[in-house]
Amino acid sequence: MNDDYATLQLTEDGQLRNFISIRGLPKSILEQILDTAASFVDVGGRDIKNVPLLRGKTVVNLFFEPSTRTRSTFELAAKRLSADVLNIDIARSATSKGESLMDMLRNLEAMASDMFVVRHADSGAPHYIARHATPNVAIINAGDGRHAHPTQAMLDMYTIRHYKGGFEGLTVAIVGDILHSRVARSQIYALRTLGAKEIRVVGPKTLIPTAIESMGVNVFTHLEEGIKDADVIIALRLQKERMDSALLPSESEFFDQYGLTNERLKVAHPEAIVMHPGPINRGVEIASEVADGPRAVILHQVTFGIAVRMAVMSMSMGGREAERNAARRQQEAQHVR
Ligand code: ASP
Repeated sequence: MNDDYATLQLTEDGQLRNFISIRGLPKSILEQILDTAASFVDVGGRDIKNVPLLRGKTVVNLFFEPSTRTRSTFELAAKRLSADVLNIDIARSATSKGESLMDMLRNLEAMASDMFVVRHADSGAPHYIARHATPNVAIINAGDGRHAHPTQAMLDMYTIRHYKGGFEGLTVAIVGDILHSRVARSQIYALRTLGAKEIRVVGPKTLIPTAIESMGVNVFTHLEEGIKDADVIIALRLQKERMDSALLPSESEFFDQYGLTNERLKVAHPEAIVMHPGPINRGVEIASEVADGPRAVILHQVTFGIAVRMAVMSMSMGGREAERNAARRQQEAQHVR
């Protein structure tokens, strides 16, 4: 499976061609994403907020699940790369008239689309599309079921590297609903690949997947123990839309035991930063005093997200182009012979 993710995501000479999962990607690619993003961060501050890297390319946003931040930052990222962007409103599209997903994708492909940014409630949907539906279109996963949210994880890595200078020696605590979180899964793969010292998951037993230790994390069910001396604390939203109500007593009970408050954060490293992928639920997983306080870097995550998405899009388009050129050269060589 790991090999499958590697071949699906990388060209023969190791460049990014799809971005579906952190799993299967080497440290060098993750670092290239972070470094490329760094070169894009100031584009948003310029008078003319774009660069021509995706000029003439068509990016289609296919969001089968609701999203605010991810959808709009992908759109901005594509526009800042000078691409033409098409947002398909799934609720109003012909899939609601019974057209199959495959048929819709093939039609979009026939319109000479170069990239699909896909969010879907089913784990594995972007993988399936890349493998079976439209192999000539670059697929970027914008969150699939409980499985993965790789651009979120990379913008989180960017934020951590920005504030902490790197990953070596860092203790990172991920707090809350780990069980339903595609964000947590992608963060764990990324933190491991980039070499964080210790990754902790913290939450009630019912919201922690069994055998998650095999991913190289330490499990804590007591909040203060889990965030003690941590350099980075990532709060997660309770994913109620994916939850069987039996799993959770009540939001106020959750806040009593796992909500991040200034008082509780006293046990963390004095310079610890607090992150959250959004949307935040104030008074459930995080108190307003923390969300709006000096440790929180939540809005910076959003800003960095545009640069990271620009990096992923431009790298996968570059990989695709290199692949096409290599195929063309091979064809020409065969012709000459
Ligand atoms: N925005 C993130 C996601 O789509 C986190 C969340 O929804 O809680 O997974």
